[in-house]
Amino acid sequence: MSLADDVRPTVAEPRPDCSLCPRLVMFRDENRRAHPDWYNGAVPSFGAETARLLIVGLAPGLKGANRTGRPFLGDFAGDLLYPSLIKAGLASGRHDPGAPEGLQLVDCMISNAVRCVPPANRPTGAEIATCRQFLIGRIAALPNLQAILALGRIAHDSTLAALGLKRRPYPFAHGARHQLDRGLVLFDSYHCSRQNTNTGRLTPAMFEAVLAGIAAELGLS
Ligand code: SF4
Repeated sequence: MSLADDVRPTVAEPRPDCSLCPRLVMFRDENRRAHPDWYNGAVPSFGAETARLLIVGLAPGLKGANRTGRPFLGDFAGDLLYPSLIKAGLASGRHDPGAPEGLQLVDCMISNAVRCVPPANRPTGAEIATCRQFLIGRIAALPNLQAILALGRIAHDSTLAALGLKRRPYPFAHGARHQLDRGLVLFDSYHCSRQNTNTGRLTPAMFEAVLAGIAAELGLS
């Protein structure tokens, strides 16, 4: 794995009560008061550390991962992501947000560029940069990693920065496949958010095609 010389791998997962981003801590606290039964913490990655594929989203959704404690579980984006993973052979079982134990990932892990829910789904540049230490740590702690799927431009840019790579040679584009160093490949997709599907920017067929291509490359289909 190629990590920048000036960034050191740190821990792969933040503590649930990580306090590095004051605005996000305040927002977590607000949500904890309003919804004490929700998870309301830094959301850990989901999947086995033997994974060959890392999927990087933007940040927990307020009523999705921030509520359930699992990336993408419980909101629209997850209702597109998880069934699409099953279709591609990157997960098995059944997607049911009320019974998440019925789904198992196949050779992949799901994480986020920012681990705490941001107001209006918009983390600041400083928050993205601060949380990158965990993305660096996450990548470094996946010994079999062969591919990363970035969901959206922010995930794409933060992944490149985590790897110590410049953006210019690897521009974000839906469906792009970027060959990086040492056999690692970065794939791009528009984020599977409700906003992107409502506007027609991303259709389920477009998303499934990206996942099918990755599964084929990993020999899983
Ligand atoms: S976003 Fe990341 S760095 Fe910021 S408080 Fe949450 S876990 Fe910590």
